[in-house]
Amino acid sequence: MGNILDILKFGWPYLRKYRHRLAVAIVLGICFGLFNASFVWGTKTLFERLGGDKSPPVAEKTATGSIGDVQKFLLHTKETADEVVDYWLPPFDKETNSIDNFRRMVGAILFLPMLVMLRGATGYATGYLMGWVSENAIKDLKLDIHKKLQTLSLGYFQHREMGGQTMLFNTGVGAVWRCLYCGFSDLVKEPFALLSIIVALLILDWKLTIVGLVFLPLTIGPVIILGRKIRKQSEIAYEKGEDQDSLIVEVYSNIRLIKAYCLERLQQKRFEKLYQQLARAGIKRWQAKEIVNPAVEFLAMIGFGVLLAYIFWEGRSIPQLIGFMTGMIMLYQPVKKLAGINTYFQEAVVGANMVRDAMKEEPAVKEDSAALELKEFSEEIKFEGLEFSYEKKAVLQNFDFKISKGMKMGVVGESGAGKSTLVSLLLRFYDPTKGRIAIDGTDIRDVSFESLRKQMALVSQEVVIFDQTVSENIACGKLNATREELIDAAKAANAHEFIEGLPEGYDTRLGEQGTRLSGGQRQRIAIARAFVRQAPILVLDEATASLDSKAEAEVQAAIDRLEQGRTVLCVAHRLSTLQKMDKIIVLEQGRVVESGSFEELLGAGGIFSEMAAKQGLKTTD
Ligand code: ADP
Repeated sequence: MGNILDILKFGWPYLRKYRHRLAVAIVLGICFGLFNASFVWGTKTLFERLGGDKSPPVAEKTATGSIGDVQKFLLHTKETADEVVDYWLPPFDKETNSIDNFRRMVGAILFLPMLVMLRGATGYATGYLMGWVSENAIKDLKLDIHKKLQTLSLGYFQHREMGGQTMLFNTGVGAVWRCLYCGFSDLVKEPFALLSIIVALLILDWKLTIVGLVFLPLTIGPVIILGRKIRKQSEIAYEKGEDQDSLIVEVYSNIRLIKAYCLERLQQKRFEKLYQQLARAGIKRWQAKEIVNPAVEFLAMIGFGVLLAYIFWEGRSIPQLIGFMTGMIMLYQPVKKLAGINTYFQEAVVGANMVRDAMKEEPAVKEDSAALELKEFSEEIKFEGLEFSYEKKAVLQNFDFKISKGMKMGVVGESGAGKSTLVSLLLRFYDPTKGRIAIDGTDIRDVSFESLRKQMALVSQEVVIFDQTVSENIACGKLNATREELIDAAKAANAHEFIEGLPEGYDTRLGEQGTRLSGGQRQRIAIARAFVRQAPILVLDEATASLDSKAEAEVQAAIDRLEQGRTVLCVAHRLSTLQKMDKIIVLEQGRVVESGSFEELLGAGGIFSEMAAKQGLKTTD
């Protein structure tokens, strides 16, 4: 019960929007439940007529008070229904004319199908409406999660496996969806089905009903015990499923390297181990799930056996027995369904908890509620007493620096020196632990993300190409760019020619990660993206590091053009790319250890000239 309330509480904010449809679905679900009772009455009525035997209702004289009133009302309803069908069904005495016979024959043939149709139509409408509501509610939930995830800071994603995100949507939200669609619909329909059948049976023969129902509560035991087991195994399966998703992403996005190093067998072993664990958890879950129904059926049949013995003992008319047996058989259908509901809800609780955990996350880097709009960059970027550490590891220390408008600033240092971290801080992916970064005197923590990032165009080593058309990929730099602007940007980036050569030119879809393009081509698309952005600050983070020398030359020409008239922060490991910088700083373990122009540093005999010598660069004098 707790699980059901928990899921309803979780789902209500999303269901509320569709409450009118939901209300109709519930009403129809109740009707569906109530129509079940009509079968008990229907079969009894039909067989009474066929056998010409009409027995008096047994329960009629039993109850008093308000229960008696309800019973009287139900009996009255039944009698009215009896009167209506009298016209259509075979009579008790069989002495009628031929026209009557024909009509009654049609009535007899169509009587049960009509009942089935009514029940089926309400069942279908409930199912359809519940499906509609749950699909839409889940759509809203997924959008909400995406909205939340996209507000979270870079740190959140760097500490999590990719599989965690896909699992959250596929399995976590999937379980909630199944529960809303199947579980919730059964939760509405089946209790009413159960109740209405029990009431019909009580009216038919209360003594038999009580004997028949004695075993019903016993069926709850296995449902509860097995439900707990299902939940535990679901948790394990979800955890392993997350590992599976991460491994798939890891292996297939790095397939080149795996093939190059012949790591296929090793990866296969990792899959094998994981799938074994997954299969084990899955089997245990199936075991628990599949045993619920047989356990319920077994206990129900014991009840049925006791009932049969009682019937022998007491003696009842055949139509009454057939009606009663129909009811008893139908009774266990909702019982079984309600037992199944528990499974849906147990699984959904695990899924809902995953979603709740993600929704609870707060972005480490928050936008100020009274954030200012940063004006167009006009003077300088200042790093003042900047310190930063990832958890406990100090990455930048005592970092003081100034980049004036129009200046081209290079940052070098060995791998791990903190160069990319500096870029991340400037774009405000992280906040400094101490000190501040100010643009034109305004702390970047006081301005909106959009107005800050709009000032910058980032071109980095890892080029991201979306599975969209070339023009859509370039337009990422400026969403409302015109076709002309996009083409101009591509031309400036030396990309126009090869784009024209693609099968559909600018409308060619690039496929995930732009697998159709070479490294240099992808980088030139990224540069076109930066061009179209028309941002005053250009941030280059090892932009040419992964290219061969021919591609580098092409890309470098485009970058040179892009740098014109912009303020540039260029992070590079390869020193030759920094020759045109006005100033270069050398980072070592997060500290500035040298600074000066390319030539000055080359002749200074410090870390820079050491690095230059290693890379085969010589002083020009
Ligand atoms: P560079 O760009 O100069 O190679 P980085 O700025 O990437 O250096 O990294 C500086 C240091 O911070 C390295 O020692 C690196 O291991 C560490 N580091 C980088 N990113 C993270 C992170 N997300 N969490 C923890 N440590 C990190």
